[in-house]
Amino acid sequence: MTTATHRGATRPKPGMTHLFIPGPTNVPEAVRLAMNVPMQDMRAADFGELTLPLFDGLKRVFKTDAGRVFIFPSSGTGAWEAAITNTLNPGDKVLMSRFGQFSHLWAEMAGRLGLRPEVIDVPWGAGVPVEDYAATLAADTRHEIKAVFATHNETATGVASDIAGVRAALDACDHPALLFVDGVSSIGSIDFRMDEWGVDLAVAGSQKGFMMPAGLAFLGVSAKALAASAGCTQRRAYFEFADMVRMNADGFFPYTPPTQLFHGLKAALELLFAEGLEAVFARHARLAEGVRQGVFAWGLDLCALEPRWYSDTVSAVLVPEDVDAREVIRIGYERYRTSFGSGLSQLAGHVFRIGHLGDLNEVSCLAALASAEMSLRDAGAAVEPGAGVAAAQEWFRTGERQPRLHAVAAE
Ligand SMILES: *Cc1c(COP(=O)(O)O)cnc(C)c1O
Repeated sequence: MTTATHRGATRPKPGMTHLFIPGPTNVPEAVRLAMNVPMQDMRAADFGELTLPLFDGLKRVFKTDAGRVFIFPSSGTGAWEAAITNTLNPGDKVLMSRFGQFSHLWAEMAGRLGLRPEVIDVPWGAGVPVEDYAATLAADTRHEIKAVFATHNETATGVASDIAGVRAALDACDHPALLFVDGVSSIGSIDFRMDEWGVDLAVAGSQKGFMMPAGLAFLGVSAKALAASAGCTQRRAYFEFADMVRMNADGFFPYTPPTQLFHGLKAALELLFAEGLEAVFARHARLAEGVRQGVFAWGLDLCALEPRWYSDTVSAVLVPEDVDAREVIRIGYERYRTSFGSGLSQLAGHVFRIGHLGDLNEVSCLAALASAEMSLRDAGAAVEPGAGVAAAQEWFRTGERQPRLHAVAAE
């Protein structure tokens, strides 16, 4: 993420930096400290005392009893690859949709790994086209489609999609395809129900809702997906499920695992469960609404096209046409020591993103809005000073939405 736009910010500056990118997110002090432990013997008989509870904790977060969760030392992208290479064969037809950089990259990976993706393109700002999926699946009476892919939370556009709806589309025509879900920026922050939604392969990563450094990929795998992996001829080695199953039984790994990160994960799971998962989701919803109230009070709009798609973990803010969002981001970083997410691919220059997931609260979000207000004004946007902060403050205080006066004026 640190590109040329961030040059010049090398001098030390007092005070804390403000990280509002949608990953890596802020790592709580308890998690950072928990990782400061000596190296340990990853083949010791008691190693499972550290790791086995992590699998149980992750299953709770994924909301699966029937399935299992693997932990791969990789970023989330590795879990994308593990999911595909363990369960699908080259030449398999898969149904995907593209509406942002992450859904785009997953489709690209599917192609690179030899699948035949049928990609439905929808405007960036929309979500998974559930009705198109339903029609496509119903027409596929010979069951040539082996898997359906859905990006639960498209981090590039701030769009959350209806995974239960995708499951319903599969069930409506009794389609046996596997359901793949990218939950990298949702699982742990937005409600995710692996078993209830019949998700076969659910992908997450450590550096978003799990409030950890990058380096661990989590993959929820249903019994059906595990069975598919036994008969699958796609080549894989590092990501082989069977090796994981064998070694994980006693809490071991097929290769050297990052034990420090495991200690961090233990602490992060403790934080999530101490707050309570449902309370974590409610907090993300409340904070996200505060950020949205602030954006609307500026007279700006979100990239997400409809309220049903608003993401509770990231908001992609459309800047006025005569403003360059890259300038907003550059100014935020250089003058106000605040990092916002950039506009990816076709959104470059048009949006900046506010990540509001993980270890944050009301005042963190007010800081993000205050910094964004100054950066927007410095970059030439005519937003009223304090308007976004005030709207969010009132939402946080009262739980009442402010009337949306300005946003429609732009249309
Ligand atoms: C961050 C992200 C990824 C990629 O994860 P990495 O850990 O960077 O490999 C994939 N999908 C979504 C939705 C993401 O937000």
